[in-house]
Amino acid sequence: MDSAEYERKIASRFAAFDQDGNGYIDREDFSGAAAKLLAEFSTTARCEKGQALYYGAEAFWQGMAGIADVDGDQRVSRQEFITGAVKRLRDRPQRFAEIARPFLHAVIAIADEDGRGVTPLAAERVLKVLGVEPERAARVAGALDTDANGRIGEDDILAGFAAYYVTPEHP
Ligand code: CA
Ligand code: CA
Repeated sequence: MDSAEYERKIASRFAAFDQDGNGYIDREDFSGAAAKLLAEFSTTARCEKGQALYYGAEAFWQGMAGIADVDGDQRVSRQEFITGAVKRLRDRPQRFAEIARPFLHAVIAIADEDGRGVTPLAAERVLKVLGVEPERAARVAGALDTDANGRIGEDDILAGFAAYYVTPEHP
């Protein structure tokens, strides 16, 4: 894959972060995603898990801004996303997992409804709430259960999440 094609595919990931579709990634996209996830799993914002999710969403936003908000206006434009996020994360996808980890850890705590791990179905619900097309959500969630035991481990979720958002080759 050449560089131009890579950037074009990464640009399509921009829409996944721009949850409200206003053309910028900003704090509201992350807090909005947290609110939608709480509603999906019938969790209140005031409980410990709800607080952890909002904290994680804010940390995720701060990490994203630190990497990509080059002009410091508290929002990441499409061009900033491509030049900042893509160029810095291409060689270090684990950096992406690091900034996303507190958020994903909190999402897992909410999506693990019986305390025995996240099921592929719960992961599919998370992805759909975040705007992933239903067919792709089912495919990605199913692929995360690498040992097919019906539960998805945190490491697999982190790796899958990073792969989905920064590796265009991922399904
Ligand atoms: Ca937005
Ligand atoms: Ca900016």
